[in-house]
Amino acid sequence: MKELFVGGEWREPAAGGHREIRCPADGSLVATVAEATRDDTVAAIGAARRAFDEGSWPNAPAGERGAVLRRVADLLERDKQEFARAESLDTGKRLVESEYDIDDVAACFRYYAGIADTDSGRVVDTGRADAISRVVHEPIGVCGLITPWNYPLLQTSWKVAPALAAGNTFVLKPSELTPSTAVLLMRLLDEAGLPAGVANLVLGAGPEVGAPLAEHPDVDMVSFTGGVQTGRGLMAAASATVKRVALELGGKNPNVVFADADFDTAVDFALTAVFLHSGQVCSAGARLVVEAAIHDAFVDAVVDRARRIRLGGPFDPEAETGPLISAAHRSKVESYVAAGIAEGAQLRCGGARPDDPRLADGFFYLPTVLDGCRPGMSVVREESFGPVLTVETFTDEDEAVRIANDTDYGLAGAVWTRDAGRAQRVAQRLRHGTVWINDYHPYVPQAEWGGFRQSGNGRELGPTGLSEYRETKHIWQNINPGPQHWFRG
Ligand code: NAD
Repeated sequence: MKELFVGGEWREPAAGGHREIRCPADGSLVATVAEATRDDTVAAIGAARRAFDEGSWPNAPAGERGAVLRRVADLLERDKQEFARAESLDTGKRLVESEYDIDDVAACFRYYAGIADTDSGRVVDTGRADAISRVVHEPIGVCGLITPWNYPLLQTSWKVAPALAAGNTFVLKPSELTPSTAVLLMRLLDEAGLPAGVANLVLGAGPEVGAPLAEHPDVDMVSFTGGVQTGRGLMAAASATVKRVALELGGKNPNVVFADADFDTAVDFALTAVFLHSGQVCSAGARLVVEAAIHDAFVDAVVDRARRIRLGGPFDPEAETGPLISAAHRSKVESYVAAGIAEGAQLRCGGARPDDPRLADGFFYLPTVLDGCRPGMSVVREESFGPVLTVETFTDEDEAVRIANDTDYGLAGAVWTRDAGRAQRVAQRLRHGTVWINDYHPYVPQAEWGGFRQSGNGRELGPTGLSEYRETKHIWQNINPGPQHWFRG
């Protein structure tokens, strides 16, 4: 089991541990992978440090770095089916969704290949004839990259591609539940010609294998996507060495529907917003905030369609969505639904595991709608990260905005209305990093992704995503140095 990639070589963990990866759709064994220890992470940090301090990558011309990233994109397209299959087996998600993800991963590498050398700095007017001043960008150094299980390779690419484009070296720690595509990616980076030691991979549990990336003084930056609790801990751990921290955390995202919205389209997207990937999406529209005038008809229509969503495994052509990632995660979702009902929410559909024997060995949970919710309920405030839609009601625009913003998070949200002015007004007032108008979920690599408030402090994608991985340095040169005689004595 040589799945740790350190200093350009595949190696076994120092303590020889392993972990079984099982498909959440049916419990079948997908792989048995190496389980690293803290010592392996420290070794990987050492390799990344040496590659940064002594290697060629940080000083390689930006165009050369861009060429490697472009080759990675080409290779991802070549191996798309292998990657998509591996992603589906680890996550249980439908193969077609994994195929979309791999397309997006390739697009991300291509995007950063293209912008690697677009902003090489600027010359600043000093107002003097005897000095020149320029501002340049440099890589930060060694980056610790920690990623979650819901979009394993996509979240990884949003970190790896800009980190490499900027000239950094890195140690990647993917979720222990979904490591397969990270292993495949390391092979492609190697094949694409990335120098040894620039990319390093350790597999295993967060507190053991991930934590050293936040703590170790030889890591210059830690970039994390995951839950808010873990993010808080990492930020605290990173403070000891004042390292740069980029956090992409959770969301509790409002989908605001006004009575004048295109009814059928808004119903259709309300389903996609929350039930895509069984709600295991950081930007899931898990809070339906609907105008009172259409509440009954709208919720009835959503419930009617939610009941008919077909669950199934990754290779079931009839399946519309898949399982939850693990038994523990399903239990968490169940306890949020139970708490919501205990606090007075009305269960309109779902709220149980399916009784279909086909699904008995997977971690499936029925699409669930809870009506009559209030902002104080835990199922409204906290991420259940499952197929659970809560419904809140408003009577005017101010109330809609107030409810939509009444959350500790601020990752994404949507507004549905045919009133063009109101669409822009509400979008402007929503305190969320991405706002969709009459749509839900699309994103483009050219535009930033990131949260307000406790959804995180980082920006991924877009030009700012690259800036996260660069230092900006001002270089001043006196071009005619001589005594100044400030003090005459
Ligand atoms: P998680 O916080 O449990 O784990 C994320 C990663 O952190 C995993 O690799 C895990 O092993 C690691 N980790 C855990 N404890 C650690 C520690 N003490 N030190 C270092 N690393 C540690 O999150 P998850 O359950 O894997 O993912 C789901 C969460 O991710 C949700 O909250 C979701 O909203 C969030 N998410 C956010 C975005 C975004 O763009 N904002 C995207 C996807 C997922």
